[in-house]
Amino acid sequence: MGDTMYKGVWIHPWDFSKDAISKISHYGFTHTSLAVRYIEERQNWPGPNIIFQNSKKRTYTSEENAVYWMPNKERYLHLPPQLRPEPSKEIKEDIVEKFIKACEENSIKSVLWFPTLRWEKAVRDSLDFGVKDVYGSHPGYKRMFLCPSNPLVRETLSLMVEELSEKYEFDEFEFDFIRYPEIPSTYGTPLLNLALSPCFCEHCKAEALKHGLDLEEVRETFKAIVEWHVEYLPNSYYCEDEDYLEAMYLEFTKEIIENEVIKEWLKFRAEQIRIILKELSKIIRKNNPKAQMSADLYPPSGSWLLGQDYKKLVEILDAVKIMIYVKPFRRSICRIPYETRIARRYLKNKLLILGLASWPPTTPKDIEEQLKLALDSPIDGVSFYSYGWTPEKNFLKIKELFKRWKI
Ligand SMILES: [Zn+2]
Repeated sequence: MGDTMYKGVWIHPWDFSKDAISKISHYGFTHTSLAVRYIEERQNWPGPNIIFQNSKKRTYTSEENAVYWMPNKERYLHLPPQLRPEPSKEIKEDIVEKFIKACEENSIKSVLWFPTLRWEKAVRDSLDFGVKDVYGSHPGYKRMFLCPSNPLVRETLSLMVEELSEKYEFDEFEFDFIRYPEIPSTYGTPLLNLALSPCFCEHCKAEALKHGLDLEEVRETFKAIVEWHVEYLPNSYYCEDEDYLEAMYLEFTKEIIENEVIKEWLKFRAEQIRIILKELSKIIRKNNPKAQMSADLYPPSGSWLLGQDYKKLVEILDAVKIMIYVKPFRRSICRIPYETRIARRYLKNKLLILGLASWPPTTPKDIEEQLKLALDSPIDGVSFYSYGWTPEKNFLKIKELFKRWKI
């Protein structure tokens, strides 16, 4: 810790300007991450829906299918049209290039933030590219994810990462959404959520066989769990008592400990995520060996349910970022000391960056309270989400705390 601490902030391409980067540097940040392709944002629920740092665009909804560099179309011509990267129609310049230059001029480290498997437009245009649950349906109606076992998906992502790492001299490459989607559900049980999780597509079936796993057997196991819930839920009272929640999690734990098929399936999914991260990171190591490699991972207590195995992934990465957006997402502040200490067990000497929310309803007082807890936790840095959404007052508090606490 001390002067070498990582102090980051995420910035959306529509909020980028040279002035923005100089401001970020002036606040005391050492790193800034720019989304280089589609990131779903309407700045945002929960929050007042205003971009505080962008006087030209106080509101903005991101394009569903844009990249923010000028892709060389030739590279992608053999891919299905749905998977080819499209330059932004609304921001008609190479933001990635300008961003890296502005970072260099302001002595701030440039991070290319790459949303990896989340891509609503491509999945809506063809479900064949997306993950599927036991009934062949995509499990997220809003958050649609590509399947990491699909060879076309792998090739598309590899080509994009290759182009970015050949063209640009960035300091860090950050993988986001490199996992399976969360299951949107309420009043269910943890076991039901697991049974509704993907992926059961043809590509996964073939890949699983190579690992000696029969996905049809997993499918039957999960369908039985769903059928049990069809009978049970109408008799459940749908209550949320602490005592009941605890009982549900105990039963969930027992099922996973005892069920070998589920265990093998969880391992298989983690392996698919490891393989794609390994493939993509190899390209970056080759083209830009100086760059740091990081990933935004789910907090470790729940990451294994989404295919992220910290033990395996940290072997590939230099740094891990975990997001605990306390107030906007109503997360308990106790997750800061808890999740960072679990993560540290797996990370050993790799960098651990804690992602914090700096947008309303987060106040300067909240920032001070969270940052204090963070500094008492085993982390190597913090990063704030996001530049555009953060009121000036919050930035001034961050700047003051960086100075006061010699972060
Ligand atoms: Zn699949």
